[in-house]
Amino acid sequence: MNEKGLLEEEILAELSFFSNQDTNFKKVLSSMCTIPHPIAIAAYYQFIHSNIGDPGLFRGTAEMEKRVIEMAADVLNHSDPSTAFGHITSGGTESNIEAVYHMKSRFLASRECSKGNKNSNKNKNGNKSDDECSAENEKGCLRLNLVLPKTAHFSFEKIANLLDIELKKADIDPLFRTVPESVTSLIDENTIGLIGIAGNTEFGECDPIDALSEIACRYRLPLHIDAAFGGFIYPFLETSRPGFGTEFAFDLPGVTSVSLDPHKMGLSVIPAGILVFRNESILNQSLDKIRVKTPYLTGRYQSTITGTRPAAAAAAAYAVMKHLGREGYRQNVAYCMRLTDVFRKELEKVGLHPYSEPQINIVTVPVGDGKDPSDDREKTDKIRSLLLEKYGWNVSVARTIPALRFVLMPHVTEEDVIGVISDLKKLLDAEI
Ligand code: PLP
Repeated sequence: MNEKGLLEEEILAELSFFSNQDTNFKKVLSSMCTIPHPIAIAAYYQFIHSNIGDPGLFRGTAEMEKRVIEMAADVLNHSDPSTAFGHITSGGTESNIEAVYHMKSRFLASRECSKGNKNSNKNKNGNKSDDECSAENEKGCLRLNLVLPKTAHFSFEKIANLLDIELKKADIDPLFRTVPESVTSLIDENTIGLIGIAGNTEFGECDPIDALSEIACRYRLPLHIDAAFGGFIYPFLETSRPGFGTEFAFDLPGVTSVSLDPHKMGLSVIPAGILVFRNESILNQSLDKIRVKTPYLTGRYQSTITGTRPAAAAAAAYAVMKHLGREGYRQNVAYCMRLTDVFRKELEKVGLHPYSEPQINIVTVPVGDGKDPSDDREKTDKIRSLLLEKYGWNVSVARTIPALRFVLMPHVTEEDVIGVISDLKKLLDAEI
């Protein structure tokens, strides 16, 4: 660190040096984030100093967070949004961590592996203590598991490591949606819960959440829906779209929690995720485990993963959700879907086809000849690099199949869509 402070102008010049290296989202068709709505930015600045983690000092902020959760629960078809329980998080990863954490705690509590049993080797029902459970866990006798689709976001790999949970990956159908029979076949006595995805990262597909809900009810397991991307899309699709009316949220009785990200299609500022549980009481003892007394703060307890939390994120989400309303989000989704249609048509003109008919604004396009997956992957990676090096386009690749992946976010224009496909065609004609 420098000994003497620098002048403001010098610092601002330095900051420009850094920010000039960042994208301004021009020619970016790889990101699931976008330029925030101006009202979200204004709200963010207004609450830049506020901490939702200290709700007594920041009462207005705490109230605003409650209202964001209620609005989200309403969008997610909760029958009584005022009874939903949740938090603003830093995004999809944190929401997923917290949801799975509660599944694990609930599972251990249901086996009466609670702290209260610590002193006795076996409680009165003959169940094991926490220490015994951990010891068994280490030996691999009691390896808890989570059943999720193969298409689940990589955040679940982190969760498996953090929470010492085995991931049991259910088969997917040709449209990359989880196969309910495969989910059922993977459930065993150590399964802590199920995951469904509404808008998977690579293909934008939605799992059959109604079938997963039925399985969750049958096996009495919690079901978390990762709608980080799709949560601000499915409820707002035009009636003519095939994905319109997709059920993925609280109207299905087995769904216990849903996450959706304002910092993706919610048009808010990074970092902002929303995690909504059906109600507080379903968390029961699991909440007790994470809830800690906060004697030196104004609130009595904290039950979130993080402590100090940016209220600015809640303010931004609140502002943009209120400002756009359902109508505004419908327009936003309609714009992205129109772009997706154009993209689809432009692809066809050059003899390319998406792997599957896009339900939402993600299009995955194979560019290999389909003979050898490793050759196809190599070609796909090369084309991705050349699109950037020669033409400045940022696109991504899928991992489940060798294919280019394009996300048609609100910052993308029709001109971009036409331009990127024309450049892609040039590369393919050059027989890369
Ligand atoms: N879940 C899904 C379906 C996602 O697509 C993503 C990110 O792309 C995440 C979770 C993780 O979100 P974040 O990067 O905001 O933590």
